[in-house]
Amino acid sequence: MRGTRYHNVFAVWLRGNPASGDDGPGMIPKTMQALVKPKPAPGMEMREMPVPMIGPEDVLVAVETASVCGTDLHIFHWDEWAQARIKPPYIPGHEFCGTVAAVGELVTAVKVGDFVSAEMHVACGHCLQCRSGQAHVCQFVKILGVDADGAFAHYVRIPATNIWKLDPAIPRDYGSLFDPFGNAVHTALSGPIAGQTVAVTGCGPIGLFAIAVAKACGASRIFAIEPNARRRETARQMGAHVLLDPTSGNVETEVKSATGGNGVDVLLEMSGNASAIRQGFSILRMGGRASLLGIPARNVELDLANSVIFKGAVVHGINGRKMYETWFQAEALIRDSGVDLSPVITHRMPLAQFDEAMRLLENGEAGKILLTVKGAV
Ligand code: NAD
Ligand code: ZN
Repeated sequence: MRGTRYHNVFAVWLRGNPASGDDGPGMIPKTMQALVKPKPAPGMEMREMPVPMIGPEDVLVAVETASVCGTDLHIFHWDEWAQARIKPPYIPGHEFCGTVAAVGELVTAVKVGDFVSAEMHVACGHCLQCRSGQAHVCQFVKILGVDADGAFAHYVRIPATNIWKLDPAIPRDYGSLFDPFGNAVHTALSGPIAGQTVAVTGCGPIGLFAIAVAKACGASRIFAIEPNARRRETARQMGAHVLLDPTSGNVETEVKSATGGNGVDVLLEMSGNASAIRQGFSILRMGGRASLLGIPARNVELDLANSVIFKGAVVHGINGRKMYETWFQAEALIRDSGVDLSPVITHRMPLAQFDEAMRLLENGEAGKILLTVKGAV
C-alpha cells in the first residue's frame, strides 16, 4: 500500500522534471531489498521493504555503496547502548553514497542522476546551537541509520538540506567514507596541526584517517599508538612516523625522548579505551591540545589535576562533523591535498553478506568494509 501511495506522489513531482526523462517513476520499484534490524534482539536480516516515500524537500537516493561502522556492530549485537537507543524494526546504515533517483518538488540543490553522499545527523534548525553555528551539537539531532531508516537498502530518503553532492574528481570508492573521514578531519583540525607533534591513540579507520589528515596538514611528527599490529602497519602507510604498541610499556619513554622531553603538542584520541585516554594525557605536553573523539563504553577515571588542570591542557570534545565546514575541508583534502584513503579499505562485499562483514569487523581483521548495494535508478 505504501509503495502505491508513493508512486502517486512521484508521478506528480516527476512529471515535467526534464532530468527524469524516460527514467521516470516507472523505473523506481515499489519495494526494495534492505538489511533490517527486525526486532529488539541480536542480528539483522535481509527483507523486502517498501521504497521510502519522499516529501517535497526530500531526496531519494539509489544507494551504490554503504560502509560499515562500529555503531552498526553495536546495533547488530544489541548491546546496552543499542537497547537504550534503537527502536526496531528499522533499517540501519549511515555511511553511504549513491545516485539521486528522485527529488521533491522544492528541491533545487541536486537533480536526478547526481552522485551524492549525505550528512546523516539531521539537526533541528531551531535550537540555540543550530541558530548559533553549532548544528553539529544540535540538542534535538536525529541520526538517519540510528534513530530513523538509513542506507543499508537499495534506496534511502534524505532531507535535501543534508545531501552532499560529490565532486566527480573524488574517487567513487570514497563517497561512503565522508562520514568517518569527516570525523577525523573535525578532530584533527579542531586546533593547530602544522608543525606540531601529534599522537593518535587508536588506529581504527577514523584514527587512520586522522593520521593522513595530520600528515597532509603539515604535522611534524606523528605517533600512532595501537595494539593491533595490522593496524599499526596501515598507520605507517597513512603517514605515521613512529608506531607504538600501548601494551609494550615504553610508550611514554619513546614519545618523551622523541619530543625533547616535552610530550606531544596534540593528542587525537580515537579509541574510546580508558587506558588509551590516560596514556594519551600522560604524553601530552604542558599546554597541549587533546581532541577526544573515541567514545568510552563507561565512565573513565582520570587524574584531572595532573592530566588536565596543572597541565593547562585544552580539551575538545568532538561530535560528528561541523555542518558543513568539515565537509568542505574533507572534500578539499581528498581532491587537492593528496589524502589517500585506500589503505583503510580492506574489503568489498555485497550487502547480503553483512554477517561476514560484522564478523570481520569484530575480529579486528578489517579496516573499512564497503558493502555494494547498487539500487536500480
Ligand atoms: P575502532 O573500534 O575501529 O578503533 C578503535 C581502535 O582503538 C582499535 O583499532 C583498537 O585496537 C584501538 N585500541 C584499543 N585499545 C587501545 C589502547 N589501549 N591504546 C590505543 N589504541 C587502542 O573505531 P573507529 O570506527 O575507528 O572509531 C574510533 C572511535 O570513535 C570509537 O570509539 C567510536 O565509537 C568513536 N566515534 C565517535 C564519534 C563522535 O562523533 N564522537 C563518531 C564516530 C565514532
Ligand atoms: Zn538544533
